Amino acid sequence: MIVILKSDVTEEQIQHILKKTENLGLKANISRGVEKTVIGFIGPEDVLRVTPLEIYPGVEQVIPVLAQYKLVSREFKKDNSIVTVGEGIQIGGNQLVVMAGPCSIEDLEKTRSIAGAIKKAGATILRGGAFKPRTSPYEFQGLGEEGLKILSDVGKEFGLATITEVMDPRDIDLVCRYADILQLGARNMQNHSLLKEIGKVKKPVMLKRGISATINEWLMSAEYILANGNYDVILCERGIRTFETATRNTLDINAVALVKKLSHLPIIVDPSHGTGRWELVASGAKAGVAAGCDGLMIEVHENPEEAISDGQQSLLPEKFQSMMDDVKKIAQAVSRTI
Ligand code: PEP
Ligand code: MN
Repeated sequence: MIVILKSDVTEEQIQHILKKTENLGLKANISRGVEKTVIGFIGPEDVLRVTPLEIYPGVEQVIPVLAQYKLVSREFKKDNSIVTVGEGIQIGGNQLVVMAGPCSIEDLEKTRSIAGAIKKAGATILRGGAFKPRTSPYEFQGLGEEGLKILSDVGKEFGLATITEVMDPRDIDLVCRYADILQLGARNMQNHSLLKEIGKVKKPVMLKRGISATINEWLMSAEYILANGNYDVILCERGIRTFETATRNTLDINAVALVKKLSHLPIIVDPSHGTGRWELVASGAKAGVAAGCDGLMIEVHENPEEAISDGQQSLLPEKFQSMMDDVKKIAQAVSRTI
């Protein structure tokens, strides 16, 4: 249930509403906008249905939310949410944000050379996995804390913010010590214990869409994070599994345009995992920007043939540079900067 308050509502009236609804067992989430203050109420559907929220002084309108997700919905927050990362990077504003780097952190020297190249091309966030969700238990699982340290040191050296995946609730504190954004990967999108714990963290989180998740399921997972207190959530469309086998996944451009309508959260497009083929990555990136995404995540490697993971979808630094040149033209065409 979304309650829109009158422009002249007093703090006393707000507190009255909060007290009354708390007694009914409803949880309130307030969004104080420039023009309007809005309260999103969460609680048992039967209580919400019979509670006449209209009667409280200061209430202008009560909107029943049909979608199951509430806090992530556009009804709850009309304006785009902007997630601030580190000092000064804003995700969700007019400027597009580019995250790039290797699939896995492999060693210090390679990470340094990739960081230098992506920075030169205009990326502001360095990506790289230290805990890798591999299909086979016999494949490289990531360098763990050593990888986190490399990512963080190189990020600081090159003035890049950092993002890396956290797979286990027990690693959250560790990953928080090293990275600026926590990535919650596709395979863990419905790991509800992880979502709840990540909701308690005071760091931005990027939630990737599950491999076979519907848009509704994806937004419900984001709702878990917001409902547990963390509003700094960024969504990431990374392709879904369809009947098509010619590409690793099917990058769902529809989802980008639709999510911008349904939710106020920023959305990043990852055409590396979305296509699984390096020669298709630039096209996916351009399509994502044209559809209205707020940024890109791109895998870059200086020697894709030798990459420990995802070499087939990693761009060489020079290909990344030319993709960025092309993406800039699309960004300009849709009135975005990069
Ligand atoms: C990754 O970003 O390297 C990754 C494993 O992504 P996803 O969770 O989308 O497969
Ligand atoms: Mn990868």
